[in-house]
Amino acid sequence: MKIAALFCLKCGSEIVDINNWKMGTTTAEVICTRCGNKGLIQGLTVGRVVLNGRQLAEASEDKAIPWWLRESV
Ligand SMILES: [Zn+2]
Repeated sequence: MKIAALFCLKCGSEIVDINNWKMGTTTAEVICTRCGNKGLIQGLTVGRVVLNGRQLAEASEDKAIPWWLRESV
């Protein structure tokens, strides 16, 4: 089974977690625990799982990046 992993677009770290929820909504602020980068997601949440190195590398190689950021991440 394939699962989705969440990565920081600023530093590439996979250590990203929910920082807080906007009260009364399904909007969450997520934070990168390495660089402190923050962003909002709506209607989605995060679950943690331990991946081995190969699985994590595959997820990182497959991550979606807007074309205008591809050369910098
Ligand atoms: Zn980061």
